[in-house]
Amino acid sequence: MHVYPDAKAVVRALAPDEPVILNRPHAAARAARFFNEKFPGTSLYAVKANPSPDLLKVLWENGITHYDVASIAEVRLVSQVLPGATQCFMHPIKTRRAIREAYHEHGCRTFSLDTLDELEKIVEACSDEEGNPAEDLRLLVRLRVSSEYAELSLAAKFGCDLTEAPDLLQAARQHCDWLGVCFHVGSQAMTPFAYVQAIERVRAAVAQASVVIDVVDVGGGFPSVYPGMEPPPMEDFFEVIKRHFEELPIAYNAELWCEPGRALCAEYSSLVVCVEKRRGDELYINDGAYGALFDAAHVDWKFPVCALEDDLYEAEQEFSFYGPTCDDADYMKGPFYLPGDIQAGDYIEIGMLGAYGTAMKTGFNGFGEAEHAVVEDEPMASLYDGSRVRPVADNVVSLR
Ligand SMILES: *Cc1c(COP(=O)(O)O)cnc(C)c1O
Repeated sequence: MHVYPDAKAVVRALAPDEPVILNRPHAAARAARFFNEKFPGTSLYAVKANPSPDLLKVLWENGITHYDVASIAEVRLVSQVLPGATQCFMHPIKTRRAIREAYHEHGCRTFSLDTLDELEKIVEACSDEEGNPAEDLRLLVRLRVSSEYAELSLAAKFGCDLTEAPDLLQAARQHCDWLGVCFHVGSQAMTPFAYVQAIERVRAAVAQASVVIDVVDVGGGFPSVYPGMEPPPMEDFFEVIKRHFEELPIAYNAELWCEPGRALCAEYSSLVVCVEKRRGDELYINDGAYGALFDAAHVDWKFPVCALEDDLYEAEQEFSFYGPTCDDADYMKGPFYLPGDIQAGDYIEIGMLGAYGTAMKTGFNGFGEAEHAVVEDEPMASLYDGSRVRPVADNVVSLR
């Protein structure tokens, strides 16, 4: 893949008709090293945030050895791209066939569950041809926890509650030598307290079940930096998690895991789009709700933007975007702040799209194409470049 210094160089060289995904391997490598060095346990990469094989290789080369997969297609992908990786099948609802293939063909040993039905499925699907049960299963019971401190809820769909957890933990313990509890506080948690309330639920579940716990997996939810969403330094999250984990009534050698998706890859990609038409304060661009801007359209996520032209002189004003498809819903309300004299033919860079951005692109209406390039400059914001310092109140964010 061609390497350019930055987005402007890409526009000068290609004058692209299609959107261009700009990847920053150095930023993903830095995030991976950060989690490896500073998280007080094992960090799994949640593949759904961005399953790009190039990204998977960068994370692997920078020390991420465990991968949180949620579908058989993700299992196959990780097997193929990173044959040495440890896979953990963390979707609490799986088909028997998917479990069987993951266990018998891809070496997956770790599975999450939130019902007795799922436990029965896992035990049956992992047994051998004579029906002998697997002896090396590693099971994680998913607890439902509050999403109130996160920007995107994951509280409604998965996880057993505290009345069900003790029975499920005891039942799971009968089928494995390695048992854990996991949860997800919701995506883009804006305060470490999100993890405190969840770990308190773990405490209650474990105390009632009185079973031996080998791992506590605090899930994903670690934030990145977006306009209007500027979290405290990541170190604060790690410290608070470590302290509350160590106070749990579990074995001193129990493991601590986390499953960051967003935090490991948000800084990896940005997107160059072209303005195809201007109508007042609405810009018609060539990517949108069915492309990498899914979250901007559907949950009003704010992404940083930057005009790539040198001949724009007016002050910034608020714009909204229309995407390329013929659908009225292909609309991103914003506001996005761009120079007042921006016009058709101009290019814009949209930042922080490495997580749940480029992964969301569809081919709807024939607009799925994008070129890819590698760029060497810094992402529009970073949690890992040393710019976020304590105390929290004095944070400086490098928003370009
Ligand atoms: C989506 C997901 C993650 C990653 O979440 P982020 O908010 O991107 O960190 C981790 N674990 C599970 C089980 C998930 O579903």
